[in-house]
Amino acid sequence: MRMEPSAVSITNPTNPQPQLKKYFDCSSCGLHEEYHYFGLKPPFCRLIIFTEKSYVMRDPFSKGESANFLLLGSHCALCEKMVCQECSIFYSVRFCHPCYQIHSNALPEELRQIMKKQQKEKSE
Ligand SMILES: [Zn+2]
Ligand SMILES: [Zn+2]
Repeated sequence: MRMEPSAVSITNPTNPQPQLKKYFDCSSCGLHEEYHYFGLKPPFCRLIIFTEKSYVMRDPFSKGESANFLLLGSHCALCEKMVCQECSIFYSVRFCHPCYQIHSNALPEELRQIMKKQQKEKSE
């Protein structure tokens, strides 16, 4: 008696559009993390509205509307590089450390310009 090889069924979950993973890369320390959302209002924590567009990673262990999240970072308002929280200073807007050091003396003026620009963008 010969054993028939059993048909191998490969379970292939129908996933017509595999989600491309997106990564946050800190330009300063090289932090490399997957992020799930970039913007002001992450859909997975509805109670949160950021004051700046931020890179957010969803906490994989919490679910529901009050899901936990991890704020990875944002863009420097001056050089527009990606910077993580550790490598930046939030001073009404976010600055990476090099920009903050270069501009710290002139910052109030710079800041006014940036705020003006952002307000203009918001009202458009
Ligand atoms: Zn960093
Ligand atoms: Zn910068």
